[in-house]
Amino acid sequence: MNFKNITVAGSGVLGSQIAYQTAFKGFTVSVYDISEEAIKKAQERVTKLKSGYQNNLNATEEEVNAAYNRMFFSSDLSKAVENADLVIEAVPEVVEIKKEFYSNLSKVTPEKTIFATNSSTFLPSQFAEETGRPEKFLALHFANEIWKNNTAEIMKHPGTDEQVFHDVIEFAKAIGMVALPLHKEQPGYILNSLLVPLLDAAEKLLVNDVADVETIDKTWMIATGAPNGPFAILDVVGINTAFNIVQDKAKKTGDPLYKKLAKFLKEEYLDKGKLGVESGEGFYKY
Ligand code: NAD
Repeated sequence: MNFKNITVAGSGVLGSQIAYQTAFKGFTVSVYDISEEAIKKAQERVTKLKSGYQNNLNATEEEVNAAYNRMFFSSDLSKAVENADLVIEAVPEVVEIKKEFYSNLSKVTPEKTIFATNSSTFLPSQFAEETGRPEKFLALHFANEIWKNNTAEIMKHPGTDEQVFHDVIEFAKAIGMVALPLHKEQPGYILNSLLVPLLDAAEKLLVNDVADVETIDKTWMIATGAPNGPFAILDVVGINTAFNIVQDKAKKTGDPLYKKLAKFLKEEYLDKGKLGVESGEGFYKY
């Protein structure tokens, strides 16, 4: 892996974090977004991150400023990618936006450049054709608050070159991530393949009147040694997101238990302003 110049495309919640973390670890980073207005927002977002690195990681003022000075911002795609060894795509989670982005990207990017998508719910094979370089394309998926939740799930699609997979794994380590390779495409990667069924089962136990929140969490924690139970995790995820997932399942499956669960989450939590950790109360008080 001899990457030096990284481009991050899309500088929203995740893009700005990926860009800053990458610069903090010594890479030159060019940040691309669609308009001057979006670029201005990105600069504000990144500037806010600096104090977090000082407070949480004990970074010095010189270090956080040096990281910022390794970043360049542009709303001109050709300029943003002209020296890129790797482009990390963090544009909105909308198929058409990503497809159009990759079509445009493939036209202006040097042949050597590797592309990686940070998509949470799509598979790289959905965009492989638009990239024009399927062998140099894969998924590189980060978690929110990247500086402390430092997982990087690296996932191949059937056409990804083995050396590219290897190089991106090395890059993830170089920017301070714990690299988690996935040798096949898997919706939800590793984390959500494990977590979603656990949370789903816990919610069903509750709404089916089998046991209460504390008992379900206690069972999981004592029996497996986990520090948190499923309902404490749901409070961190946010009950809004939990509700959206359940409502979607209720619609798709018609299962009356999901319908009951959606009604329960709405009436007992959302309508009462109990959104989880962010509102100070969810299944637990904070
Ligand atoms: P966001 O809405 O905060 O940011 C998206 C950014 O993309 C915005 O700055 C927007 O201006 C820009 N954009 C819009 N259209 C564009 C285009 N055509 N070209 C370039 N940029 C464009 O979104 P986000 O939460 O940062 O999510 C981005 C990606 O990261 C998604 O694929 C999402 O699944 C993934 N992701 C998000 C999280 C999370 O917790 N938010 C976690 C892991 C992965």
